[in-house]
Amino acid sequence: MNLSDIFCQNKAVNTLQRAFAGGKSAHAYIFEGTDGVGKYTTAIAFAKLLLCKSPANNDGCGKCPSCLALDSDTHPDFHHIYKELIQLNSDSQKRKRQAIDLPIDVIRDFLIAKVQLKPTLSASKIFIVSEAEKLNPESQNALLKTLEEPPNGSFVILLCTKLDNLLPTTRSRCQIVHFGPLSDEKIIEKLSASGVNKQEAKFWARLTGGSLGQALIFTKLEPSFYEIKKEFLVRFCKSELADVVDFAQWINSTASQLTASWQKIKPDSSKADLGRGAKKVFAAIAISAFADAMKASAGSDEKMTNFDQPGQIKTLAARFSPQDCAEMVEKCYETIRFIDASVNEKLVFEHLLLNCADSGIIKN
Ligand SMILES: [Zn+2]
Repeated sequence: MNLSDIFCQNKAVNTLQRAFAGGKSAHAYIFEGTDGVGKYTTAIAFAKLLLCKSPANNDGCGKCPSCLALDSDTHPDFHHIYKELIQLNSDSQKRKRQAIDLPIDVIRDFLIAKVQLKPTLSASKIFIVSEAEKLNPESQNALLKTLEEPPNGSFVILLCTKLDNLLPTTRSRCQIVHFGPLSDEKIIEKLSASGVNKQEAKFWARLTGGSLGQALIFTKLEPSFYEIKKEFLVRFCKSELADVVDFAQWINSTASQLTASWQKIKPDSSKADLGRGAKKVFAAIAISAFADAMKASAGSDEKMTNFDQPGQIKTLAARFSPQDCAEMVEKCYETIRFIDASVNEKLVFEHLLLNCADSGIIKN
């Protein structure tokens, strides 16, 4: 992958290429934007350019030993840092630690120690840090000196979804490059090209808020996540108290099936993370449905995420006033916080559904 092949991130790519052409590339970057908008792909293409022995047109040449090594994922001066690397720690106690944040042991062993060593194939070394928003303060403080002036002309690129999670001292040492969401049309175009039908593509484009990477994964999961979402919404919109326990169990077991399929696509990711991710999609679908119901009540012609299930949205709008919908959206965000904090994992959906069913009964 070259920088000129990056899909729909022209502004970010131009920023990087212009700086490179002027010999002004920063040595510490933050690539900021939601998951799945191309930050990692761009970072690799940029690494290829920075490491290339004879760059052409502000891109890696694709032919030199460095480019060939990078393309085959064997470049000795390219380092990808992610929180699951804790599993390689020599201390078995530390290996048992759940990879929730990016701990100092990973940063120390895989970044700070390695950045001191001279590059072997290229003139510099590259460190890409995934999920930098999970760097805890201890890790960030340990990194400050490296970010200030990476030794051996190295480059550090932090990939980050939430800039606010980084300390001001970290942010001020890096050049920030923003990666915006992709338009519905662009995502539909890409997904259609890989055989996804347009209706499904449009739904995922809207649900993910313009994240091609996430949308692509959701269309690949088995059983079909799109069929599951349709069934979920049918049940959700007529959810009754008597059905809450069954329905919550169905969500949990379906989420487990999706997680297993997701892990096949992303074997390096922690199963717990993917499990939380799958559950959060259900909460996100509920949020989108309440948001759609609010739009329907207001007679707004704004784009609906669940445009494909107008009957369900109508039912929801009849059961919940816009005010109730707003409160339910709050409850769904609370559910997401519970999932993130691994609180009562088996019960979070029961709790949410009880809230929905309760409000329904009061209203009816
Ligand atoms: Zn090259």
